[in-house]
Parts: sequence; structure tokens; C-alpha cells
Amino acid sequence: MKKVGILALQGDFAAHAAALVRAGAEPVLIREATQFRDIDGLVIPGGESTTMLKLLHYDKLLAPLADFAREKPVFGTCAGAILLASEVNSPRQESLGTMDIAVERNAYGRQLESRVAELEPEPEFAERTAPGKLEAVFIRAPIIRRIGAQTKALVRYNGDPVLVEQGRSLVATFHPELTADSRVHRLFLEKL
Ligand code: GLN
Repeated sequence: MKKVGILALQGDFAAHAAALVRAGAEPVLIREATQFRDIDGLVIPGGESTTMLKLLHYDKLLAPLADFAREKPVFGTCAGAILLASEVNSPRQESLGTMDIAVERNAYGRQLESRVAELEPEPEFAERTAPGKLEAVFIRAPIIRRIGAQTKALVRYNGDPVLVEQGRSLVATFHPELTADSRVHRLFLEKL
């Protein structure tokens, strides 16, 4: 069984561990740099990206994480997507830049901080997983304002990409670990 690490410094890493089990992988909670050697891919969960970044610096995990993200499949959800982006705005923030996207943090505003949307994925998503609407949970989510030439939007919400892949990397601005539908996690496991 493939071993998938989940960055477990902060945020909803436990929900991702359960989702990975449902999708057929073995989750490993990552808190030290030496653990990167033992995993086939990595999930960076949702949470608070500024806090996660501080903890990554404090634990000296930022450089090992950047090295891993350049070599192996990485899936970032929400705050995790922000950490992987090449450009982060509102406010500007340091990021790994392995995914060529520009994100605007907390872009849905205070009134509509969190919501659940029923989305119709792009045909390619259905072909590679299974057809049917996707329930997407957004929690103080960023909006992806620009995607690069090497990236592909697999799901959109109001026209904005919310699930984007670039080679072996995947980012979602919503939380697939909070619903029973395991198509997004299975799509990631295909990259391992
Ligand atoms: N608003 C958070 C941030 O900017 C992300 C929210 C989430 O991960 N659910 O980091």
C-alpha cells in the first residue's frame, strides 16, 4: 500500500488521514524532516497558512518540504494550496511556488466565509475518476485568480478554478477530506 504523508503541524490533518484510508492509502503524520524519506506523496492540509508557515520555519521543515514538493506528488488543500502557490495576495505571503497559480486569500469575504457548493466537474475529472456532481466545502477559502500554462483546472466554481493540477501536484481550495466522496483523493493517489 502506498504511504502518503500529511503535514501535521496544524490544521485538519486528521480528516485527511481518514480520507486517505477511505481512498486506499496508508497515512503517515509528518512532523520531522527525516520522515520525508519514507513517503510516496504528501498532503498539506487546510488550516491557517500563516501559522503553518511559522511552524515550518520554527521546525526547520521549509527547505525539506520544498525539496520534496519539487520531486514527488504533493496535494495542497486550502491553506496547503496557498503554501504551494507561486503568488499569494491579500496579504502577500512567502510560499513554496511549486504550483504556478496566483491566489487571493480569504477572497469570499466575511459575509460568506464558508459554504457548501454542488459543483459539476470538468469532463476530464469525470473521465479520470467517476461521473457525478461534487460536493465542495469551502472554509475561508482563497480564490485562484490566475493559473499558469502548465496547469489544468479540473473543477471550477463560478468560473474560478478550485481543483487544479500541474504535473504531479494537485491543489484544491475546498476540503475534499470533509465529505464521503473520495474521488479527489483517489485522483491524487493516481499520481504516486
Ligand atoms: N484562510 C486560511 C488561510 O489563509 C485558509 C483556510 C483553510 O485552509 N480552510 O490560510
